Amino acid sequence: MRATLIYGAGDVRIEDVPDPVLQDPTDAIVRVVRSCICGSDVWPYGSRAATAEGGRIGHEFLGVVEDVGADVAGIRRGDLVVAPFVWADNTCDFCREGLQTSCRHGGLWARDGIDGGQGEAVRVPQAQGTLVKLPVGPDSALLPALLSLSDVFPTGHHCAVTAGVNPRTTVTVIGDGAVGLSAVLAAKRLGAEQIILMGRHKDRTDLGREFGATDVVAERGEEGVARVRELTGGDGTHTVLECVGLKPAIETAFGVVRDGGTVSRVGAPQYPDVPADFGVFSRNITLTGGVAPARAYIEQLLPDVLEGRVQPGKVFDRTVTLDEVPDGYRAMADRSALKVLIQP
Ligand SMILES: [Zn+2]
Repeated sequence: MRATLIYGAGDVRIEDVPDPVLQDPTDAIVRVVRSCICGSDVWPYGSRAATAEGGRIGHEFLGVVEDVGADVAGIRRGDLVVAPFVWADNTCDFCREGLQTSCRHGGLWARDGIDGGQGEAVRVPQAQGTLVKLPVGPDSALLPALLSLSDVFPTGHHCAVTAGVNPRTTVTVIGDGAVGLSAVLAAKRLGAEQIILMGRHKDRTDLGREFGATDVVAERGEEGVARVRELTGGDGTHTVLECVGLKPAIETAFGVVRDGGTVSRVGAPQYPDVPADFGVFSRNITLTGGVAPARAYIEQLLPDVLEGRVQPGKVFDRTVTLDEVPDGYRAMADRSALKVLIQP
């Protein structure tokens, strides 16, 4: 089969790799129907050291089950399934607590001999716990929205949930990338009335308004902080959803959060130290968030997606074939695409 490999910064190739086969009785083989490129794939695309051997990449996919191992129940050949961006048994103590990203028998895609999502097929370990069956066919118009359940929408949702967003909280979302916009959608879904989106790409913030943002702040740094405070009677918002992962974003988050409020971060942090000094301490700010256990949220979010009450698939603004994946990476890296869908 063909799959995407990354050889270093700016160097993504489509190559032939071995066809996946069942190795363990808990495995399934899934033929990928849709995959996509994540903002977190763009970090190694920007900075990874060149290597002679490429590494597999991609962690978001949905597809049709082609084969299942003897110990897999509830999933059959022909089922359309979505995979969360971390595979897990969904039965261990961490999984039962809704923290499938810490599963004792789980792991990451595209590592340690596990296939990546940006290819024609994937061997899925712990298939019964990992995969979620979708009640539609592979020609459904909902595929982009359903694919968003793999990572981007549950990540935005996790940010809102860990921040404690509810109908009584005001919200600032930092970042107008696909995760930030998904966090706007999640905050709206949880009932937040005021949602301030900090972002400066008008086409993206327009989608943010469609998703529920009540205000858009294009300014950054101190100016941006002042603008959010102006919009909130000087106080800042109860919750701040940091969806970027760069140090200026977390600094802005502490600048716009109301005393006693919560900052949640889901942008993969590209900085080693959180600037949580005495000022943050004295204002009783809670810092939370982290990698989203998407598996915990897929079934909760699925009904709203199936009914069209939320349309998280709108974050995809470009579709490529597998051969065009290198173009897709370029488009994500130069920000000409918000999020790229792959149709192998
Ligand atoms: Zn587990």
